[in-house]
Amino acid sequence: QDADVERWVKGVCRFCGTGCGVYVGVKGGRAVAIKGNPDAKTNFGFLCVKGMLAYKVMEHPDRLKHPLVRQADGNFKRVSWDEALDLVTSKFTTLRNKYGKDSVAYYGSGQALTEETYTFNKLWKGGLRSNMVEGNPRLCMASAVGGYMTTMGSDEPAGSYADIENAKCLFIVGSNTSEAHPILFRRIMRHKLNHPEVKIIICEPRKTNTAKIADLWLPVDPGTDLAVFHSMAREIIRNNWVDRQFIEENTRVTDGKEVYDFDKYAAHVEQFDPETVEKVARCPAANIRKAAEWFANSGATLSLWCMGLNQRTRGVWANNLIHNLHLITGQIGFAGADSFSLTGQPNACGGVRETGALSHLLPGTKPVADPKWRAHCEKQWGLPEGTIDPKPGFHTVKMFESLGGENDADKPIKAALICTTNPAHSLPNLNKYIPGMRDSFLVVLDIFPSRTTQLADVILPAAFIYEKGGVYGCSERRSQLTEKCVEPPGEAKADIWIAAQIAKRMGLEKVIPWNMDDSMKANEMAWHDYISVTKDTDHTMWGVTYERLKKSKAGLQWPCPTEDHPGTYKRYVRGMDPMFEHQGFLEMFGKKIPKDRKIVFYMDGRNEGKANIFLRPYKGAEEQPDADYPFFFTTGRVIEQWHTGTMTMRVPEIARAHPNGYVEIHPEDAQKYKISSGDIVEVESRRGRCEFPAVITSASLPGILFVPMHDQKYERLVNFICNDAVDPGSFEPEYKVAAVRIKRL
Ligand code: SF4
Repeated sequence: QDADVERWVKGVCRFCGTGCGVYVGVKGGRAVAIKGNPDAKTNFGFLCVKGMLAYKVMEHPDRLKHPLVRQADGNFKRVSWDEALDLVTSKFTTLRNKYGKDSVAYYGSGQALTEETYTFNKLWKGGLRSNMVEGNPRLCMASAVGGYMTTMGSDEPAGSYADIENAKCLFIVGSNTSEAHPILFRRIMRHKLNHPEVKIIICEPRKTNTAKIADLWLPVDPGTDLAVFHSMAREIIRNNWVDRQFIEENTRVTDGKEVYDFDKYAAHVEQFDPETVEKVARCPAANIRKAAEWFANSGATLSLWCMGLNQRTRGVWANNLIHNLHLITGQIGFAGADSFSLTGQPNACGGVRETGALSHLLPGTKPVADPKWRAHCEKQWGLPEGTIDPKPGFHTVKMFESLGGENDADKPIKAALICTTNPAHSLPNLNKYIPGMRDSFLVVLDIFPSRTTQLADVILPAAFIYEKGGVYGCSERRSQLTEKCVEPPGEAKADIWIAAQIAKRMGLEKVIPWNMDDSMKANEMAWHDYISVTKDTDHTMWGVTYERLKKSKAGLQWPCPTEDHPGTYKRYVRGMDPMFEHQGFLEMFGKKIPKDRKIVFYMDGRNEGKANIFLRPYKGAEEQPDADYPFFFTTGRVIEQWHTGTMTMRVPEIARAHPNGYVEIHPEDAQKYKISSGDIVEVESRRGRCEFPAVITSASLPGILFVPMHDQKYERLVNFICNDAVDPGSFEPEYKVAAVRIKRL
């Protein structure tokens, strides 16, 4: 491989949230290979098939190379950048003048670069004075954000991937790590091979490839795991496996309104005895007891979870209940012990959560409703006091519900700029949202045609990550820089250039002054602007300068307050977390914290720095199987494909390995419905229908159907079926559970 390459350029993988470090091989101005970066702390040189073959995406003949504008006859016409941008900005201005500042929305992505997302967020909230800013992390990680914010007072995990190699028990919930985060799974597997005594517990409706290495599988019906977590807590308390001292020093029990003593929590979980829970969740009582024992007594338990927990109408509660298990057992704050949410996308954490690019947030994952934080951002951004709207914009589902044409009086959002994402495939209950996208003024920025570009009025051709460079932040609070490797094809441009051009045409170049053709220089200016906002806060990235990111082979983890700080492996722990030395951090809690307390959760000066053990009731999924729709339906990823397949399906090796979606059916159900492997089966929910070839497997319990989510073919577009009911705390939709019926066609 090296012989065919002129130079290797440092970068980060474009796909999952693991954040694998790569080197992109360049020859003759073209990207011709990708290899793992052995110095990267995320992957130590290993890559999965997606990361290794990503360069094949870049020269695919389908690449969008020129701006396109839809004509009256419905066809697209190639136009110049000036024409396209003039049209976009004049239309945005007209609509804003006519329908108000919130009539034009931005919808971004956990796959855009941090500098890009920060720029669009600043342009909208600081420049256009509108909080109609959302991104697809609302669909995947919002419940994890809600869980961390409510339990610990700060988003993102306390620990790091390095906890994997220090864990003595891994509790993996709602995450098919082997396919969704393959290189992290490799680390888990190696750890288990080197230390067979390490216990692995999987809680998951399917016996996935991940579950195949488990010592204990907790099968559950979709949406019922809250009962299992409560039951584990009950067993832990009854057997006195709790850490009383940790509970006393570092936690408080609350239902979100009142504060109670620990006995109230013990009484609350008493109703979840394993035998009762077995009837609710179909999880064997003995497995629940064993899981509780291993979790509490391992010496170092690490929980890992992903969409199976988040994409639920009670996703925040599910997150809270995992945190509860760690808090009552003291399994947090030391090597190998953490409550760690895996992020799905490569830059959901860094790009969207950390820059606050959701409708209710500002940079530093702080609420837009907080007057102190609005004043802080206005000052940093050089804006007059009162510029930022205190009212949150609409969450994603509401945003797309509210999107429509000028003739539709019920739809207040008339236009949207959609960047680096494909909502016409990825939104749940798609039939409901496609008309709004079609009827509104839709501007789509992307590298390939997609279901969403088919609905666009203007298509803006974007540069691929290795054609522009910039920062990604992964699940473990680590930011890593990709250098620009090659030029983009045709007239494709970096998003940051497009954002700056829109700002200039709307008279906002003072808000976004990094209007230049050199994307790395523009990125650097945006990055400096961003880290300045975080300086001296509990989210400080001030020490993560561009210079350091350029030099570093592994990136840096926040909090990182100064240029000589090495970055933080574990937060909240004295001696590890630099916030303890930061002037004003402990003082903000008043005199309530003993001077030598080892763990202090940020909590913005509230709750004596104690984490919340939440009293949450049990609630299952919004939609339950019934006589008409007798099956549970759930979705997930496969190792080869990425999201809606617009990139990975264009890599021939990947397209061959996983060409299409299918439905997994248990043999008992297949027999009942006279279905054989390969038969085409209609799967129908109350919202829509699809047709999939059947795969007969006992991977799931009878009564549960599974479909991978990537297929873009109209008849196999799984999101026609999925439920768009949202979690009232995080507004994340319940992709993971629906009720369906099936029929052999
Ligand atoms: Fe890329 Fe994720 Fe694969 Fe690593 S594990 S190479 S980040 S897709």
